[in-house]
Amino acid sequence: MTKAPLEWGKLAFSYMKTDYRYISHWKNGAWDEGRLVTDNTLSISEGSTALHYGQQCFEGLKAYTRKDGHIQLFRPDRNAARMQATCDRIMMPHVPTEKFIDACDQVVKANWKYVPPYGTGATLYLRPFLIGVGDNIGVSPAKEYIFSVFCMPVGPYFKGGMTPVNFMVSNYDRAAPNGTGAAKVGGNYAGSLLPHEEAVHKGFADCIYLDPTTHTKIEEVGAANFFGITKDGTFVTPKSPSILPSITKYSLLEVAKNYFGMKTEERDVYIDKIEEFAEAGACGTAAVITPIGGIYHKGKLHVFHSETEVGPTTKKLYETLVGIQYGDVKAPEGWIHLVD
Ligand SMILES: *Cc1c(COP(=O)(O)O)cnc(C)c1O
Repeated sequence: MTKAPLEWGKLAFSYMKTDYRYISHWKNGAWDEGRLVTDNTLSISEGSTALHYGQQCFEGLKAYTRKDGHIQLFRPDRNAARMQATCDRIMMPHVPTEKFIDACDQVVKANWKYVPPYGTGATLYLRPFLIGVGDNIGVSPAKEYIFSVFCMPVGPYFKGGMTPVNFMVSNYDRAAPNGTGAAKVGGNYAGSLLPHEEAVHKGFADCIYLDPTTHTKIEEVGAANFFGITKDGTFVTPKSPSILPSITKYSLLEVAKNYFGMKTEERDVYIDKIEEFAEAGACGTAAVITPIGGIYHKGKLHVFHSETEVGPTTKKLYETLVGIQYGDVKAPEGWIHLVD
């Protein structure tokens, strides 16, 4: 088999139909076997709870081709566990971890020709999702569900090397204090579209969301988690029940501690005290790390390391984690799942 004729290095983060996707139905209290299909459309009841009441969630993870040609997933068990936690919050049935990983494996293998080769900086992005379907009208959990996984090749996030971008503090909240901020549900995203648009219009990459109770502490950077490196080299990331627990963030935290012997802290990060940080970044699966050049707040821009260059600690954390993801750096026990 040969690879698809794509310019891997030039791919954007944009939709591309690949050949196969996985789909499984839950009915009468059980999942069916699940299968690969070629059709990229779904036919569901007009009464589906996913359409009216936001009873749905998603995940995002990547498959990487190693130097030796084998393909691996990075911590897919963590995505499965996070989806299960989301399901508990919005009353959907769990997809068992084994089923979740098996679905990802099947989709990667079936779309082998779209898995970017090693060295291109591109990856295969996997999008698992779970939706409430069936004939409903009242506000109550659906009686039927669909779990599906589709994928597409995506290019390197930073085409010309890592470059910092600026963010502005938003007056909007992305989540309520005891709401669904920690669940990966689409509803959190619908509410972020307008704040994002307004930030971009003002010349920023995205917004910084503060904690919804006091508006004094940093929670998220757009749809990514925040971290800062203090002037004495401590890796700090905010702690709050309304932050979406980023797998990239928790991985960076372990890399900082175990690969570089850094001190790490999960604690409150006050927007009025950001000068404690020498470097700052946003982290998530898509970019791994986006260095934060500066944060605009109360009429002034606070610049961390530089508006044009990535800081040294951010750079080494990024290179080590990406090295682990591509199999170039030895991974901690249990972080790598070999597909093929
Ligand atoms: C998915 C997501 C993240 C990043 O999580 P990763 O597991 O690192 O990809 C951060 N914030 C929000 C709001 C998210 O939805």
